[in-house]
Formats: sequence, C-alpha cells, structure tokens
Amino acid sequence: MRIKELLSKGAEQLREVTDIPQKEAMILLGEVLGKEMSWIVMHNDDEICVDERFTKFLERRAGHEPLEYILGRASFYGKEFDVDARVLIPRPETEILVDKAVELAKELSPNAHIVEIGCGSGIISIMLALLLPKARFTAVDISSEALHVSRHNAKKHGVSERISFIEGSYLDGVSGEIDMIVSNPPYIADAEPLGIGLSYEPSLALYGGSKGDEMLCHIIDLFVQKDVKALACEMGYDQRESIALHVKQKGLNIAFYKDLAGLDRGFWIKEKR
Ligand code: GLN
Repeated sequence: MRIKELLSKGAEQLREVTDIPQKEAMILLGEVLGKEMSWIVMHNDDEICVDERFTKFLERRAGHEPLEYILGRASFYGKEFDVDARVLIPRPETEILVDKAVELAKELSPNAHIVEIGCGSGIISIMLALLLPKARFTAVDISSEALHVSRHNAKKHGVSERISFIEGSYLDGVSGEIDMIVSNPPYIADAEPLGIGLSYEPSLALYGGSKGDEMLCHIIDLFVQKDVKALACEMGYDQRESIALHVKQKGLNIAFYKDLAGLDRGFWIKEKR
C-alpha cells in the first residue's frame, strides 16, 4: 500500500480520539519505520509493506491509550524522557513549576539541597539538575516502579550522580538540611472521575485525598516543621482558596502562579526573614 493510503486509513481510525489524527498516524508510522516525519512526507507515494506493529499501535491509540505510552517517551522542557504506564505523562504546565523552582533556587546557595516529593518519571529533579549544575538533589517516591523509570531517566540525562533516589513517603529517609522542596503531588479529589485518557495513568500519581489538596497541605506543614527555605508546588486550578486558608494562620509568604490557560496552577512560599 502507498504511504498516503496507509496514513489516511490510520487517521480514520483515530478520528474519534484526537484532533490531529493525520499527524498522530504519521508519528506512529514513523516510529514503526524508524523514519522522521519529513521522510514520510517526502515519500508519500512510495509503496511500502508495514509490519503489524503499525496496526497494533493504531488499535492501542484508538482505545484512547496516550501516544506517549505507545511510543515510550515524552518531551518535557525540550528534552526527551522515557515514560510508561508506571508514571504520569509530563504535562506542559509543569515546565512552569521548574521555572519557579529555578528562580527560587537562584536566591539560595548554588550548592543547595533540593528535595522533590513524588518524583514520578523524574522530570522535575532531572531538569533542575541540568539547570542548576551545582545543586544536590534527593528525589522521593512511594512507588518503586516509578523509581525505576526516574533512575533510568537520570542516567539518560547524565545526572544520576547528583540525585539520590529514595523509596518512601514525603520526607521519609531524607537526611541533612533541606534548602528547598519542590513537588507536583497527586492533587485530584478522590471522587472526581478521570477522563478516558487519564484512566491509563497511575491513579497513585493523580488522586490526592477526599478534597484533593491534602498532600499539598501536608507538604506545607513539613516545609514549616523542617525549617526549609523555599517551597514550590503545582496544584489544582480550584485549590487556591483552600491552600491560602491553610497557610493563613502560619504567617507564610505565599504567592500563586497560573498556567498557560490562565488557571491557577501552583504556588511558592519563601521562609520568613
Ligand atoms: N495536572 C494533572 C492532570 O490534571 C494532575 C497531576 C497531579 O495530580 N499532580 O491531569
């Protein structure tokens, strides 16, 4: 069959699942052929034989499995990370959290000790390690499966020497002074139904408790207890009020940031001076 026919048949199968069926069919075909998109465009009229992987990929995608899990990789902050169903897929809004954390870290000493709670695929700690070459990192996750992925990604980006990965809950097993905590914890309320795409992702990484912000509030409490200098977290678009209320009595210096859609998406807190 010609490439263009294969693509239009493939796109037909994906029409219900995505706004860009043609492009996704092309990405999946490129993956099977080991070719760039530009090659596929230029060879539109070539007759090719594709193996059954293309059919399998299309079936998985037609069943709403995220493209990133099918490909086994996702891009974040311009870099490529390996992902699979053991970890959440990186979200573009989390790049803003990385930027906030870098801003805060620049006010601390260059060799600051930065701890990430719930590192998942490792994208935040790894990006921070690349952007802050002297800082030291501890990345904690309760899921040993997620830690396999994050350790692998740290190696891939050449920063595994600077990040110590710990299996645990919150700050379990973290030793020494902590200068900054950064976290994108699960923050969706337990009763909230997940969209069909999200159902492929680990629920452990998404659900944060009956209100959703319980883990965020606990992280704020730990930040205070441990005398940490700075904290940056991602949060749900509707959690600003409850988090502001939680910190109200503590006299903390909190500020919120929005995502690219203009929704409240996170906050940072600096120690009182
Ligand atoms: N931003 C993610 C979503 O809405 C949730 C991530 C999280 O709970 N930390 O799908």
